[in-house]
Amino acid sequence: MTRAPSRGVRRLGIDVGGTKCLAVVLDADGEVIDEQRRPTPKGPEAIIDTLAELAESCGPFDSIGIGVPGLVGLDGVIHASPNLVQVNFFRVGELLSARLGRHVQVDNDATCATAAEWKVGVARGATDVVMVTLGTGIGGGVVAGGALIRGANGFTGEIGHMVVDPDGPLCPCGRHGCWERYASGSGLAWLARQAAGTGQLARVVEVAGGDIAAIRGEHVQAAAREGNAEALAVIDEFGRWVALGLSNLTNILDPQVFVLGGGLAVAADLYLDPIRAWFSRLLYSPELRPHPRLVFAGLGERAGAVGAALLADAG
Ligand SMILES: [Zn+2]
Repeated sequence: MTRAPSRGVRRLGIDVGGTKCLAVVLDADGEVIDEQRRPTPKGPEAIIDTLAELAESCGPFDSIGIGVPGLVGLDGVIHASPNLVQVNFFRVGELLSARLGRHVQVDNDATCATAAEWKVGVARGATDVVMVTLGTGIGGGVVAGGALIRGANGFTGEIGHMVVDPDGPLCPCGRHGCWERYASGSGLAWLARQAAGTGQLARVVEVAGGDIAAIRGEHVQAAAREGNAEALAVIDEFGRWVALGLSNLTNILDPQVFVLGGGLAVAADLYLDPIRAWFSRLLYSPELRPHPRLVFAGLGERAGAVGAALLADAG
């Protein structure tokens, strides 16, 4: 029996972000052979129009998967995605399938990024992986026992909303003290604004244009790169919060490797040492166990789109 020719196979994946839609076409070996992007429009109808146009402009394809932020059901319905659309129960999979005349696989964007790093990225070959995307918030994905875990409803990996302080700051999810309030890009900015409010971080405030309320994560990074001790102290505190969540996740999932991705991964050199140092202190019985490896993601901004294409192929 001869194998079907793999040459010419084109697998389309689209990462639908809050600001842009990034499409990639993979060949049979998982290599990116085309890439296109569009701004993400507002409103569900406009999003379907944009995705249909983007898919068609990528040329013929054999399968299509999309990755979207938020609570994505196994049936391709987005239950809630405040950063993408203001409607609940958006039937994006069904609507786009009807438009394109073929099945569209829909997954959470962090689940897609996890699949990509696991199948073709830095976690290739591992059986137990937790991906943590540190961006505006925190997303996550889990591979356990050699399988990508989706949960009963598709909602596995909402690790950013693990509460680490019930008396902490209010989260957009309506609860207080979620991990992402401290350990995301917004968390880093919040930690810096708290410190600046007590008269510290003069250099960071200066970099932010003199306005404490305007402090963002990149201002802390810029001052830290100058060697500013107070900025480095905020990064260390941030590393402690990241490590606290990773130690909690280790207790639940016992992974071989954590893959840290998202926007903050571009400044990995600033964060990795503090995160590693705190993690080895906060881990349960650190001297009596193997420690999970901490690595930064390798596929960059393409991870979600590549994973969407790979999951569509598998499903
Ligand atoms: Zn929350």
